[in-house]
Amino acid sequence: MPSSASRGIGLELVRQLLESPANLVVAACRSPETATTLGELNTTSKGNLHTVKLDVSDSDSVRAAVKEMEPILGETGLDYLINNAAIAEGGNAFALNPDVLMRTFRTNVVGPALVSQAFLPFLEKSEKKTILNISSSGGSLAIAPQVGTRNTSYAISKAALNMLTYKQKVERPDITSITMCPGWTKTDMGGQDAMLEPKESVAGILKVITAVTTADSGKFLRYNGEEVPW
Ligand code: NDP
Repeated sequence: MPSSASRGIGLELVRQLLESPANLVVAACRSPETATTLGELNTTSKGNLHTVKLDVSDSDSVRAAVKEMEPILGETGLDYLINNAAIAEGGNAFALNPDVLMRTFRTNVVGPALVSQAFLPFLEKSEKKTILNISSSGGSLAIAPQVGTRNTSYAISKAALNMLTYKQKVERPDITSITMCPGWTKTDMGGQDAMLEPKESVAGILKVITAVTTADSGKFLRYNGEEVPW
């Protein structure tokens, strides 16, 4: 279940999951009514795809999504929760706009924390019990010198998401929590000069996530399975 599937990597996740042996795909997005490509996938999905309204930055919306998902999932549970939704706004360390920082933190950190918490009962009922937090190597201290001063609010939020992942692993050893960089990908966020097509990034993400076990929990991985230095 990707937490945002209207466009970009989330939409491609849904597309590839529908071509996989997955028997049920739940696609969440803020405005299902305007997510036209997702709507088209819904029409051709032979009933495997369910769309749920979710704004990850709004706790009422998260609670409402849980209610919407209960009859969809029944007793089956949710094998994979993919916390994909994020925003990337700019800012340098000594010129940070507090509103931008708070908004970025709310979507990129509070969002995945809240969604993981609220969807935990679904994960507990499942076989795989896996949370994938989509992060960025921009949140890695080791890689930060290559990034320079750009995207400070975003980088802070992804570093925090990595720590959230680690805390999830420590607190619940029965759940596999992974944080992953999808690679620099051609989406609205990545821009058209990016290195990867969404197809390639998502194929890698799915290969890695379906192979991980609790022994990998807490790891920071790349879409190709390599470990990202913290
Ligand atoms: P896009 O900007 O293309 O898409 C962002 C998605 O997040 C949209 O579906 C958007 O929905 C959704 N979203 C934003 N805020 C919320 C919210 N409050 N509630 C629900 N959904 C929300 O980004 P990408 O597809 O490129 O990025 C996906 C993930 O990959 C992100 O976590 C990003 O940080 C990460 N990443 C991407 C890289 C890249 O190069 N593309 C590189 C490294 C990491 P809506 O349509 O409603 O706005």
